[in-house]
Amino acid sequence: MRKQEVSALLIGRFQPFHIGHLEVIKTISRQCDRLIVGIGSAQLSHTFENPFTAGERHLMINRALHDEGLDNYFLVPMVDINRYAVWVAHVQSLVPPFQDVYTNNPLTRRLFEEAGYNVRSAPLFNREVYSGSEIRKRIISGKEWEHLVPKGVAETIIEVGGDQRLRDLTREHSYEVTI
Ligand code: ATP
Ligand code: MG
Repeated sequence: MRKQEVSALLIGRFQPFHIGHLEVIKTISRQCDRLIVGIGSAQLSHTFENPFTAGERHLMINRALHDEGLDNYFLVPMVDINRYAVWVAHVQSLVPPFQDVYTNNPLTRRLFEEAGYNVRSAPLFNREVYSGSEIRKRIISGKEWEHLVPKGVAETIIEVGGDQRLRDLTREHSYEVTI
């Protein structure tokens, strides 16, 4: 029989995946046998808050984790269902079995605790700059941003024209942006 393995779940929008996300994943993956990374709001793309598609985010995260030598993870896109009462069941239907959940979000904590999971806090790394909003603002205003994301993420964003897309989205929908 296989030994009992511990799987942990972390969900984010990863718009884009940055070094804070990478650091927290490195920490969590030392505390479990397998990490499940949920790519949240998978249906959204091409907006200021959510510029990248689920497929683009999948590629950037995969490259970043592979470059770190990590291989004990699953990446699972998750569309929003906008019904908190059945969110945990929705997640369960998408991913392999898991025991631990890492989150700093009080509602996510409550929902998974009510469903009987071990919920742990995820440590924050240099949150002032390792933040999706900060990186999107920097891309739009032409400031340095590449050093805030893993190399594979910067390459993916440039490859898919994501930096130009964000700047165009801002021009086309300037009401969406608060810099
Ligand atoms: P946004 O500004 O777009 O909300 P974000 O940086 O908060 O982006 P998310 O995708 O919303 O990134 O976050 C997903 C998860 O990653 C959250 O649980 C959050 O706590 C965690 N996280 C975000 N930034 C960091 C960081 N600097 N260090 C560690 N964990 C982080
Ligand atoms: Mg966030």
